[in-house]
Amino acid sequence: MFDKILIANRGEIALRIQRACKELGISTVAIHSTADEDAMHVRLADESVCIGPPPAANSYLNIPEIMAACEITGANAVHPGYGFLSENARFAEILEDHKITFIGPTAEHIRLMGDKITAKDTVKKLGIPVVPGSDGEITSEEEAKKIAKEIGYPVIVKAAAGGGGRGMKVANSQEDLSIAISTAKTESKAAFGDDALYLEKYLGKPRHIEVQVIGDGKGNAVHLGERDCSLQRRHQKVFEEPPSPALNSEEREKIGSIVAKAIGDLKYRGAGTIEFLYENGEFYFIEMNTRIQVEHPVTEMITGFDLVIEQIRVAAGAPLSFSQDDINLRGHAIECRINAENARTFMPSPGQINYFHPPGGLGVRVDSGVYQGYRIPPYYDSLIGKLIVHGKTRNECMMRLRRALSEFVIDGIDTTIPLFVDLLNEPDVINGAYDIHWLEKYLDQH
Ligand code: ADP
Repeated sequence: MFDKILIANRGEIALRIQRACKELGISTVAIHSTADEDAMHVRLADESVCIGPPPAANSYLNIPEIMAACEITGANAVHPGYGFLSENARFAEILEDHKITFIGPTAEHIRLMGDKITAKDTVKKLGIPVVPGSDGEITSEEEAKKIAKEIGYPVIVKAAAGGGGRGMKVANSQEDLSIAISTAKTESKAAFGDDALYLEKYLGKPRHIEVQVIGDGKGNAVHLGERDCSLQRRHQKVFEEPPSPALNSEEREKIGSIVAKAIGDLKYRGAGTIEFLYENGEFYFIEMNTRIQVEHPVTEMITGFDLVIEQIRVAAGAPLSFSQDDINLRGHAIECRINAENARTFMPSPGQINYFHPPGGLGVRVDSGVYQGYRIPPYYDSLIGKLIVHGKTRNECMMRLRRALSEFVIDGIDTTIPLFVDLLNEPDVINGAYDIHWLEKYLDQH
């Protein structure tokens, strides 16, 4: 096992990883920018190293500085969290070259899944259902038109290197398709330095359902059920729940075992998420994330297993501490992402937190990196915490969530808490009757 882990991240996820390290008796190294000197992840770490000025490109993404911090502190592993360098294959390679373990999959697997065209092709061969579309990159407009005609409009043009909902354009007709291709190409080139595109059938009313997996890198992999993350704004998740209100246990078992087998066959190491769109009883793979995700705690709540501890174990070459038969899904969990943003305009709201009172009580978990008196810097993602609630049933979970939201006080800045208070009064949310477009439509009308 490792004796010292450097956590290449900030905010709530850096604290989350520190907690796992503490429980395992591993010392922690925090890295931080000059804007984060007062951050909780720095205060609670055993050691900390300032690695640069506020912009992430000069600090949290600065590989030479992070390598120097590993050298100075003698860390023998790095946990990248999510975002920043978590899906950077080059970073994983550089660490391995220096005999420092990257807590995540191999560089090869990160690369394979980072390109959406090769990812789709790989999982298709492993038996995972995918969205009908082009076989690989589209090389000409004529070819795209031919495929679109075969699968039927609407279609969506997507960037192979895409992420964060960028580089995607929907075309409703042949006339739209040329414009969709040229705008997606330009956007993808600008955002990712790569303009390879592919084409898919555009699904009208899907849900977003993702399966959590973890593999030991030696061919053993298990799934930990799904999360329904259909409530999204600008392709970003805001509310996540397992189990999905849309699935029955046969569907859950079927997709889970297909995914776990595929991940085992790949000899994948670490935690990962296979994301699907789900419509009319069918699953369609869209992408795989090769890291721990923001919404992982809801899965921990219904399985009782600590996913970050498992990530650390398998990275150290230890076996998984549970098998598929040990995983029993218990009750229901929901996560609300608390952002420092106005709940109506979604304008970021950095600044000082004058008063902070998180909720508590049975079944309530708050993962947050902020504290009373803390000043939220304007340079980073606006996620400041996550409210995670567990209950025996979905109904109990919703009741508890309403109660927890009413207790949560964050004064001095705007947060998205009022949005969740409103959403929990909406019949469609109460009944779990929503698709990936539901929230956008609701926001347009309110
Ligand atoms: P990114 O990596 O940029 O997040 P994804 O491929 O995961 O891109 O897609 C993000 C979101 O875009 C999905 O959650 C869904 O809302 C929408 N989307 C992607 N592909 C399709 C599709 N074929 N049909 C309908 N919506 C889609």
